Amino acid sequence: MIKKTRNNISRRGLLASGATLAGVLAAPAVARAQATAGRLVIVGGGFGGASAARAARDRYPNIAVTLIEPASQFVTCPYGNLVLAGRSADLAGITHSYDKLVGRGVTKISQEAREIDAAKKTVRTADNQTVAYDRLIVSPGIDLKWDAIKGYDRAASAVMPHCWVPSLQPVTALADKLKAMADGGTFIMVAPPNPFRCPPGPYERASMVAEYFKKAKPKSKILILDAKDGFSKQPLFLDAWKALYGDMIEWVPANKEGKVVAVDPAAMTVETEFGKKHKGDVVNVIPPQQAARIARESGLTGGADWAAIDTRTFEIKSAPGVFVIGDANAAPPMPKSGFVANNTAMRAVAVACSQMTGAAIPNAIYFNTCYSHVGENYGISVVGVYRPNADGTKIDEAPNSGGISAQGATPDIRAGEATYADGWYRSITNYMFG
Ligand SMILES: Cc1cc2nc3c(=O)[nH]c(=O)nc-3n(C[C@H](O)[C@H](O)[C@H](O)COP(=O)(O)OP(=O)(O)OC[C@H]3O[C@@H](n4cnc5c(N)ncnc54)[C@H](O)[C@@H]3O)c2cc1C
Repeated sequence: MIKKTRNNISRRGLLASGATLAGVLAAPAVARAQATAGRLVIVGGGFGGASAARAARDRYPNIAVTLIEPASQFVTCPYGNLVLAGRSADLAGITHSYDKLVGRGVTKISQEAREIDAAKKTVRTADNQTVAYDRLIVSPGIDLKWDAIKGYDRAASAVMPHCWVPSLQPVTALADKLKAMADGGTFIMVAPPNPFRCPPGPYERASMVAEYFKKAKPKSKILILDAKDGFSKQPLFLDAWKALYGDMIEWVPANKEGKVVAVDPAAMTVETEFGKKHKGDVVNVIPPQQAARIARESGLTGGADWAAIDTRTFEIKSAPGVFVIGDANAAPPMPKSGFVANNTAMRAVAVACSQMTGAAIPNAIYFNTCYSHVGENYGISVVGVYRPNADGTKIDEAPNSGGISAQGATPDIRAGEATYADGWYRSITNYMFG
């Protein structure tokens, strides 16, 4: 078997990657000579990876940037919940092409990364290309923990969809079941334990299902059975649910028998830890989560669920030159959000490229803003500002910063936040894919 390095990728591989051979051969000598300060390879083209590719391409023209991502289009989780409200019928509005990123000079290898060899500084792809790197940014997102809830495996997810990882199951799988449900039915959501992708996500989802029910199936009920005793923006969600949907949504925390430990897809029941069974007409199970397989199986998580990083750089201490960003790392108290994945991509790119070019590494500060749609013209948000500590072992919230939207705000302010949310989505996806 002939192993191919990043500098020795076959013509077929290049064409499959989306880089045109003509473009590569026709590149001016100066441009090619400039791209020699180092090779940055990025695994995963979602919020973290696509942001990193764009940032590196824009800011470090003398670094060669390669993105390894099997999909030809990226479907975002953010704004997927709005499909459930019936605000759009399909995924077109949340599906993005990599073409413009490739047009900016990112080489895309449209393959799954199968193995990272941090000692040899190579990534092996599903078609056995060996891609050499000087610095590697890994942002592969999450995997679901099948069978952490008894009976909830891949087959069960066809009956009780999760719709938490669009490449595994698009949100339309849940939308279709809600559409088919009779008025007066019960929608059960099984909400996951911490830490998980998008802390306000399940509650935004319940809100969007309630918006749909209010319009189309007003006699229906929503039961959220939670593995936790509290959740992000809780007072804002609870106020909004009462104001917008009356008693349509019931939230049951773990300490009130909300934690689901088993499901029976044939009977459409879920069972809590003390043996209480609930029957739903549509059941959405959002199971416990962990870093995606490539991070775990390449040793980047050290056998844990998430990758421990140097909080100043996002580099893995046991694998110098490898940075893990996005949902796959452990960076509390920062949430696993698209905003954080984008923001920390900037940091990892700055550190990785400065290491390659010899430039000074700036001080770190991280941000998050998460908007949630709760109803028509009704948005809420949470903001956080964070700093790593001096030895890179933890992250602290910056004093006197951040917080959640005010309780009891006027309808104008809530409508304003819904508009800001739309603007956030447009601008971040435009940065990644525009
Ligand atoms: C319902 C819902 C709503 C949300 N709403 C918001 C919101 O409003 N705001 C917000 O900030 N966040 C939101 N999020 C969270 C956000 O989607 C995630 O935090 C974000 O996607 C994490 O980025 P990532 O790069 O870690 O992973 P992803 O964006 O999932 O990208 C991972 C990429 O890696 C690729 N990949 C995986 N394995 C490999 C491999 N072996 N080789 C190559 N490629 C690989 C995948 O194909 C994928 O394209 C929401 C999440 C959900 C579920």
